[in-house]
Amino acid sequence: MAKIQNAMEIFKLLDKSNCRKCNEATCLAFAAAVFKGARQLSECPTLDPQIIGRYSGSGTVKTMEQEAEEAIRQLQQEIEKIDLPSVAQRTGGTCNNGKLTLKIMGKDFSVDKKGTIFTDIHVHMWVAVPVLNYILFGGSGKVTGNWVPLRELKGGKDWYRLFEQRCEKPIKKVADTYTELFDDMVHLFGGHQVERHFESDISVVLHPLPKIPVLICYWRPDDGLGSDLHLFFDEAAEENLNIESIYTLGAGLALMFEKLAHRHG
Ligand code: SF4
Repeated sequence: MAKIQNAMEIFKLLDKSNCRKCNEATCLAFAAAVFKGARQLSECPTLDPQIIGRYSGSGTVKTMEQEAEEAIRQLQQEIEKIDLPSVAQRTGGTCNNGKLTLKIMGKDFSVDKKGTIFTDIHVHMWVAVPVLNYILFGGSGKVTGNWVPLRELKGGKDWYRLFEQRCEKPIKKVADTYTELFDDMVHLFGGHQVERHFESDISVVLHPLPKIPVLICYWRPDDGLGSDLHLFFDEAAEENLNIESIYTLGAGLALMFEKLAHRHG
């Protein structure tokens, strides 16, 4: 039976008509629900039964958590093979007592030679995967200072719609209701408010990884128009991290902000 690695692979199997016969608003939402383990592929009535047979079966479609845990284990095995001090410069980190330390959202994240992450804050698996990927393969490019949306990155077209659903829309929802979000970005997560980009009302730059800055722009509701929020990346971001990890990082940010807003009610 074929194995599914991510929600985008499920999305590619669907006819993308957004017909809603599965009771999800879009095929993308259905794909994400299947990937999370909340829905079954067979619940899409337009899907060829042969495809369902090829991908269905106990344990074939893993939950996102299972996928992430397996990915973390594999990445940790790779980390064991590298010399951490030798990657400090490439990754923009420092090395002390055998641990590599990176500044992530203003906090110290240390990684030992077994790939275990040490930090004062809770490490969500959606953050752990891109961090370990970055240490292994990322950080060798420059940061140009030119901001582009995810869809304009080379591999971004395939990921953009999922990114919109799992990152931009949830963060916008938080920003619409939790008025302290942007203050928290600055004061809790080492962000800095910058000159307003793309005619937004608020522009904040965060560093979820040393060489992966993210520009978050928010437009307040105005004159009958609803609010809007978009994330922008450095145009050379893919030289510093693969596109799947960039997407994962964005989805991790959304989960983190949702949790923060929930905690502060
Ligand atoms: S029933 Fe299938 S094709 Fe229709 S919206 Fe749901 S996933 Fe997409």
